[in-house]
Amino acid sequence: MRAVYFEQHGGPEVLILGERPAPALGPGQVRMRVRAASLNHIDVFLRRGLPGIRLPLPHIPGCDAAGEILEIGEGVSGLKPGDRVLMNPSLSCGKCEFCQRGDVTMCVSYKLVGEHTDGTCCDEIALPAENAIPFPETMSFETAAALPLVFVTAWRMLITRARLRAGEDVLIHGAAAGVGVACIQIAKVAGARVFAVASSEEKLDLCRSLGADVLIHSEKEDVVKRVREATGRRGVDVVVDYVGKATWQRSLQCASRGGRVVTCGATTGYNPEEDLRHIFYRQLEVIGSTMGSRNELLAPLKLIFEGRMRPVVSAVYDLANLADAHRLMEARKVLGKIVIRVSQ
Ligand code: ZN
Repeated sequence: MRAVYFEQHGGPEVLILGERPAPALGPGQVRMRVRAASLNHIDVFLRRGLPGIRLPLPHIPGCDAAGEILEIGEGVSGLKPGDRVLMNPSLSCGKCEFCQRGDVTMCVSYKLVGEHTDGTCCDEIALPAENAIPFPETMSFETAAALPLVFVTAWRMLITRARLRAGEDVLIHGAAAGVGVACIQIAKVAGARVFAVASSEEKLDLCRSLGADVLIHSEKEDVVKRVREATGRRGVDVVVDYVGKATWQRSLQCASRGGRVVTCGATTGYNPEEDLRHIFYRQLEVIGSTMGSRNELLAPLKLIFEGRMRPVVSAVYDLANLADAHRLMEARKVLGKIVIRVSQ
């Protein structure tokens, strides 16, 4: 089958379009033709290489996919060839202590498709049947492929982990990026007031169009000062920070007494300066979150299928031009998602 893969770590030029063996179909699995995939920051980090993570090479990147079922494996019911499905990229063992209690993202052998296994930037994938989720006929493959990773991540982070409630204030850094776009909309549906931080007027316009209430230009304004002014010096109840090193200190300063600061990543670096006095004196909660369960994906998908939330796709590239898509993501000018068209 056609696939884009890399045999060594490096810049976008290491991405090669070539032939790789098609995946075998196992019991309980479905084989799916990938029509569209989408890009996430993790694709860039894995391509460059992460300290302490050894990836079997060659590696096919891509954590998101939408397409149609080609074949179902032994024991699969409720799905059939031709069904249009999107993929939940979380793989868990189903047996360990954490899986048994329903916390699949804490599975001791948790795997993310495209990180711990070959990914979706190829013609065909095989995946457990429960990871294939049907989507409406009216939705394009490109739109469906933009949904899973960012919406499941945002839902678990805000609703499950940070326990966001109606009437609360939430600050979102990097609010025009993939996860940010999902966070703004989920927070609005939850009844919160949204403070969106982004680095350009164009990005802030997008945040406004998605319902953000307070818009803060990170390059031109003092984020902490704006938050204090808008909240009567109180601070916000919840801060979403997946930017990391560049924003962490400000995140702690923007949180109210007893506030929750939640992180699901660190796109600018993992080792921020941290003044612990902010945490103990004002009794902050620092909360980690990663990916989400099938239910934490189905919840936002229901709202999207009802037209109450939407993905933002700002660029579509053909599979052969995946390197250009990586370059655009690295330039940090993306609004929402970059989608990869794999086959027509
Ligand atoms: Zn497990």
